[in-house]
Amino acid sequence: MNVLVTGGAGYIGSHTVLCLLNSGYDVVVYDNLCNSSYEAIKRVEKLTAKTVKFVEGDIRERLALTELFKTNNIDAVIHFAALKAVGESAQIPLDYYQNNVHGSLTLLEVMAEFDVHNFIFSSSATVYGEHNPSPYLETMPLGRPTSPYGTTKVMVENIMDDVSKSNEKFRGISLRYFNPIGAHESGQIGEDPKGIPNNLLPFVAQVAVGKRAKLSIFGDDYPTTDGSCERDYLHVMDLAEGHVAALTWLQDSAQFRGVEAFNLGTGTGTSVFKIINAFEVATNKNIPFEISPRRDGDLPAFWANADKAKTALNWQAKRSLEDMMTDTWRWQSANPNGYNN
Ligand code: NAD
Ligand code: UDP
Repeated sequence: MNVLVTGGAGYIGSHTVLCLLNSGYDVVVYDNLCNSSYEAIKRVEKLTAKTVKFVEGDIRERLALTELFKTNNIDAVIHFAALKAVGESAQIPLDYYQNNVHGSLTLLEVMAEFDVHNFIFSSSATVYGEHNPSPYLETMPLGRPTSPYGTTKVMVENIMDDVSKSNEKFRGISLRYFNPIGAHESGQIGEDPKGIPNNLLPFVAQVAVGKRAKLSIFGDDYPTTDGSCERDYLHVMDLAEGHVAALTWLQDSAQFRGVEAFNLGTGTGTSVFKIINAFEVATNKNIPFEISPRRDGDLPAFWANADKAKTALNWQAKRSLEDMMTDTWRWQSANPNGYNN
């Protein structure tokens, strides 16, 4: 099976490409490298001793996509390519709608033109919005996310639903990720944010390696066990394996038509303070921090009900919080400047 992976040079994409190759799939990566490095692909090739066909390009470029589908026999698409910085999306919302929504539309149009109907979309827990109670269940109504970024995810999920109603061949899966952290066990690939990290773990790792003086904890007065926010952190390798499980499910479910959503999380919430403590214990590094005001749009706590993925996809997150910390540190300490070493 030949799988097109858009955004395959990025953080989750590169780990997923590695798992796909190890599971025997052929992979074509299409990425404009706006937030990633080709070095990640080279390292995946080295780790797997397999080759990846890489095409540099943008999902909004219809002609380039058409050429890609013309010259490659694509059976399924895993669509990671998107801009993903929540705060930035409020500053430049049009760029986010343009990239994430228009890009997805163009991709879906070209897929239809070439009779490709297997589509796995990178969605997010943010689609549950502010008002659904945790644990989030796939049957809950989609909410109103607090950022334009989140809205683009809801919009693409809605587009997938409409496409499936109009195209009886469409087979879509929406994977709603919770909080992926960690890195491949080798320490060779991992998360390499440009500039100041927005997410918790990359920031903690950069403090540990001496690139940043201290962590700001955004709020310690939330109605949670210790006052800091709680999230459902899962190991990026578990998440990557979730994509292989979803693809296998599509292959095994020949009769399936429509769209299915699956939560990919562990089912447990962990607070910011607990993350810092787990990181310090696993790595023997001290993480200085200060308490800062709450960050706009942050919800106090949410986590997944991941039973559907377990039952239907036979997938379950199996790596521990300690694994997540150790693997983050192995990657960060071996690559203090990410892929620019
Ligand atoms: P990432 O930025 O590391 O990867 C995204 C990749 O897409 C990058 O390689 C980037 O260069 C590429 N890209 C962006 N716009 C493109 C375009 N127009 N054309 C071609 N390539 C383009 O991010 P990630 O953390 O690996 O996230 C992957 C997907 O998962 C995204 O859709 C993101 O919204 C989603 N997601 C991520 C998280 C998370 O916490 N990391 C959580 C939920 C959902
Ligand atoms: N967080 C923090 N300091 C940081 C980055 C994040 O305290 O420098 C907190 C943030 O408020 C949230 C949690 O860590 O409660 C996870 O944040 P992240 O941005 O990684 O994930 P998301 O908010 O998208 O769930």
